[in-house]
Amino acid sequence: MKYDYDLFVIGGGSGGVRASRMAAMTGARVALAEEDRMGGTCVIRGCIPKKLMVYASQFSENFVDAPGYGWTIPGTPSFDWPTFIAHKDKEIARLEGLYTKNVKAAGVTIFSDRAVFENEHTLLLVNAQKKVTAEKVLIATGNRPTREMGTTHVIPGGDLCITSNEAFHLDKLPGRILVAGGGYIALEFAHIFHGLGSHVSLVYRGEKPLRGFDMDMRDALCESMKTRGLEVLLGCEFTKVEKRGPCLHAETNKGAIIECDQILLAIGRQPNTDALHVEKAGVELGMKGEVMVDDYSRTSAPHIYAVGDVTNRIQLTPVAIHEAMCFVETAFKNNPTKPDHVHVPSAVFTTPELAVVGMSEERALGMGHSVDIYKSTFRPLLHTLGGRPVRTSMKMVVDAKTDRVLGIHIFGDHAAEIVQLAAVALKIGATKAQFDDTIALHPTAAEELVTMSTKSYSKAPG
Ligand SMILES: Cc1cc2nc3c(=O)[nH]c(=O)nc-3n(C[C@H](O)[C@H](O)[C@H](O)COP(=O)(O)OP(=O)(O)OC[C@H]3O[C@@H](n4cnc5c(N)ncnc54)[C@H](O)[C@@H]3O)c2cc1C
Repeated sequence: MKYDYDLFVIGGGSGGVRASRMAAMTGARVALAEEDRMGGTCVIRGCIPKKLMVYASQFSENFVDAPGYGWTIPGTPSFDWPTFIAHKDKEIARLEGLYTKNVKAAGVTIFSDRAVFENEHTLLLVNAQKKVTAEKVLIATGNRPTREMGTTHVIPGGDLCITSNEAFHLDKLPGRILVAGGGYIALEFAHIFHGLGSHVSLVYRGEKPLRGFDMDMRDALCESMKTRGLEVLLGCEFTKVEKRGPCLHAETNKGAIIECDQILLAIGRQPNTDALHVEKAGVELGMKGEVMVDDYSRTSAPHIYAVGDVTNRIQLTPVAIHEAMCFVETAFKNNPTKPDHVHVPSAVFTTPELAVVGMSEERALGMGHSVDIYKSTFRPLLHTLGGRPVRTSMKMVVDAKTDRVLGIHIFGDHAAEIVQLAAVALKIGATKAQFDDTIALHPTAAEELVTMSTKSYSKAPG
């Protein structure tokens, strides 16, 4: 045979694992290289450990709400960070084992090594110093946190800060933590540490966190953070970080010096392509180092494909998996399939959650739609006896001409669970009238989506 393998996959994360398994199941000879732990970002240092931390952080509020429901909590509840981290690590190790087992069971050869290109069809396994050849190659190397502000500016003392990677393995819970960034990862960690008892300051250089999300939802989240006691410093960025004794001192562009125990930088992520030597294989990169691909995830080298975060399209696990499955259809099942990036639901796992599917009001108007807007803000039933001033906000963006629902936005408890199913309705093109025709499930927060009968306002583009 001309090549050692029919397919060589670089990266054992969400995209690489799914692609290697599905390709092997077609009878192809498949190998995969993973330089770190099988499962990649989602399983080892992303979605899963993060969500476990979110759950841990939410108990504190349950203890506050409990007396309203007649419970007496004896003593003061306390949280033990090392116990939680040990339990979390055990579960992550179990999942890692499961991923490895499933990939091997599909007949994939796993190399626990770093793979880099030697030429179009040859890869070097760096530690083993072994060369392997493959007819097709899939780049699924993901991305990693950056410590650089913008494209070039490195913060002096930035190496004293942690990123999300280290946040999962701290020796102890920081008493005071500064979280820098305005994206979903920054907001999630800010809420996690707040819920666990740390004093949290969120520092974001923009006007409002969560750029690209619906403005009403961004406002609701900012309001909620203030009510909960998270410090939010907007229009603010670090200029310098220093260690003074056991503490860190962050100097801001506004001349303030903030003293804290940890600083978490969640200011962006960069594709893992810098040491891959893709130029030896004729693969073009974009301005940010992302692998450039066509609609079928094919790179500028026709036998090399790329999926997942490394392509900098939509950086979410289900999207990486979807792209991987489309790649296998295209490259191994003679069924060219483009990944569908429309109506991808997403969530920010703050407390409460923010979840969305479809367009924001601003985007719908920007795309030329005249819109009808339906909004509702209410106190969830749980909090009537619990007593805390928690509000849920929901918003529907509807095309005024066709009555088709363009976007659903929820900031409230269980928003992600609700929006997952709302995504089905949007995918099949549901209209507002069809939502209204649906019988409510009572008493829930989700019923609001089928009972929002009064239009809040209409708007035309421009
Ligand atoms: C803190 C955090 C929270 C997140 N939360 C969510 C969430 O709630 N929901 C969601 O959908 N998404 C979430 N994500 C995003 C999600 O984790 C990614 O979109 C997903 O993991 C992308 O999969 P991937 O296969 O492209 O890359 P990855 O999962 O990153 O896998 C890439 C793999 O390639 C390996 N690798 C890199 N270079 C080489 C090389 N040269 N040789 C061998 N191996 C190599 C890496 O070690 C890594 O294991 C989160 C991400 C982070 C950081």
